[in-house]
Amino acid sequence: MENNYYSIRMHAQRGRAHLSGAERLVRKAQIDGVVAEMLQRATEYDPASLRISVDEIKTAEIIRGPAPNLTEVPVPDFQAGRERALQALLAAGVMSDVATSAIETIAGGAGPDGTNMRGAMLIDARTGDRLEPVTARGVRASRMDVEPDLEEAFTRSLVSQGLIHHRTREALILAAKVLAAPGIIAELCWSDDPDYTAGYVSAPGFGYLRIPEMKAKGESRGGRAFFFMPGFKLTETIQFLEEAPFLINKLGLIGSSAGKR
Ligand code: AMP
Repeated sequence: MENNYYSIRMHAQRGRAHLSGAERLVRKAQIDGVVAEMLQRATEYDPASLRISVDEIKTAEIIRGPAPNLTEVPVPDFQAGRERALQALLAAGVMSDVATSAIETIAGGAGPDGTNMRGAMLIDARTGDRLEPVTARGVRASRMDVEPDLEEAFTRSLVSQGLIHHRTREALILAAKVLAAPGIIAELCWSDDPDYTAGYVSAPGFGYLRIPEMKAKGESRGGRAFFFMPGFKLTETIQFLEEAPFLINKLGLIGSSAGKR
């Protein structure tokens, strides 16, 4: 149907190694452009196998919610960045040893044999138990985007703060959906792109703290962790993250804790 949305997903790999992935939720008219963009991005990684799928999503099934406020937190180096991330996770209610171990796990490669995972670790915020059904894959948040009529304003607000990398845009959208998931109290991420050192911690209380240094330049290990608070139904949380279509219907504020950029 003309009115419906389309979930577009890309996954590029070589052997069992995850190289690149992307998720969009767009109108029919955007499909060609988005697929071309994903194809171009994926081929830069020289994948042995590349999948792009397009699935129709009924408009009535879409859940809408706000984007978190983004605060840039300047840090002198990645060690300070990880320390800041740890403090933020504690403030969000993650147990200290659980937060420390999540940071160490991402730093060492969260997948089997120190590789990067395709999705995120799902971690019990109290015990540290790994809850994702398959460790190499993790839980993959999918089917999320910004309402088409907010797209331009969203891009403008990021660009006005110098946040021009597509990864920042995608991470903020992903974080919005993850924060809307039942039982998720915080998220931790830094990229596996060796040239992109930024990461973030997000939580309902303080929104999205963007930390520009979370790893050394040239480091290709990165990853994500979603922290789950027991008491919610795990299967429903995973189902929400992987399958529920989600659109941002309200933009957040974008600023810096240094007061300028
Ligand atoms: P990126 O920011 O794209 O470099 O991703 C960093 C890490 O986050 C990847 O290595 C994956 O482990 C994880 N990741 C990427 N995309 C997703 C997603 N859609 N859902 C869950 N985890 C993801």
